[in-house]
Amino acid sequence: MATLEIRDLHVTVEADNATKEILKGVDLTVKQGETHAIMGPNGSGKSTLAYSLAGHPKYTITGGTVTLDGEDVLEMSVDERARAGLFLAMQYPVEVPGVSVSNFLRTSATAIRGEAPKLRTWVKEVKEAMQRLNIDPAFAERNVNEGFSGGEKKRHEILQLELLKPKVAVLDETDSGLDVDALRVVSEGVNRVRETGEVGTLLITHYTRILRYIKPDHVHVFSGGRIVESGGAELADKLENEGYEAYTKGGASA
Ligand code: ADP
Ligand code: MG
Ligand code: MG
Repeated sequence: MATLEIRDLHVTVEADNATKEILKGVDLTVKQGETHAIMGPNGSGKSTLAYSLAGHPKYTITGGTVTLDGEDVLEMSVDERARAGLFLAMQYPVEVPGVSVSNFLRTSATAIRGEAPKLRTWVKEVKEAMQRLNIDPAFAERNVNEGFSGGEKKRHEILQLELLKPKVAVLDETDSGLDVDALRVVSEGVNRVRETGEVGTLLITHYTRILRYIKPDHVHVFSGGRIVESGGAELADKLENEGYEAYTKGGASA
């Protein structure tokens, strides 16, 4: 079973000619087959965690370790992270001009599987996955994220997730900007992937809404750049009722 281990992770960014520490010692273990939710107020550093795992150059790791099955993720290039089985869906996905969804998926699958998927079965796989996610077939020929609506971006993420079958998936605010129907379709996709038992999922969210559709095994409250409390699904219910106030007193979320 694959395991993503984050130990005492410290991360800084440069802002206004100053170095600011955003992550202040994150500890988290996500095993294949488990679903974890990270929940926290805006500005607490949740996306910074996702970007740091993705290897975004703006984020400097100043301490701690991240390993996937014991392999040092922080030493890997962005491509190597994907090949190692790490899937990262960002809160604000980037456009990939001139690359169609269809080509993008096939290139990604080839990189991850180490060989090009057989064309006939691949076309069928993509078509079926798109149908399950209520995605129009014409979508496959559009350029990645170019002019996509919020809902289309999120469906495209889940399409990638279902087709690429990573070991560990980090989904940052997959629920933001979705109407109820899109939220249900996206959640069903995540649940299908989860039911395979082969993917560990780290669901990062500000709102408890998505957790009505996806029941996490573990819930972590994120505040002030670290995990301040962990529990089961009942912790999400508590947050839904009480909000984050108890965790942000004294400006701890900034
Ligand atoms: P969250 O996702 O929990 O809302 P973020 O990780 O987006 O939080 O932001 C945490 C803090 O780090 C904020 O104060 C934000 O302004 C700062 N920050 C994040 N990324 C950058 C960046 N690229 N440049 C400057 N500041 C950043
Ligand atoms: Mg935010
Ligand atoms: Mg964020």
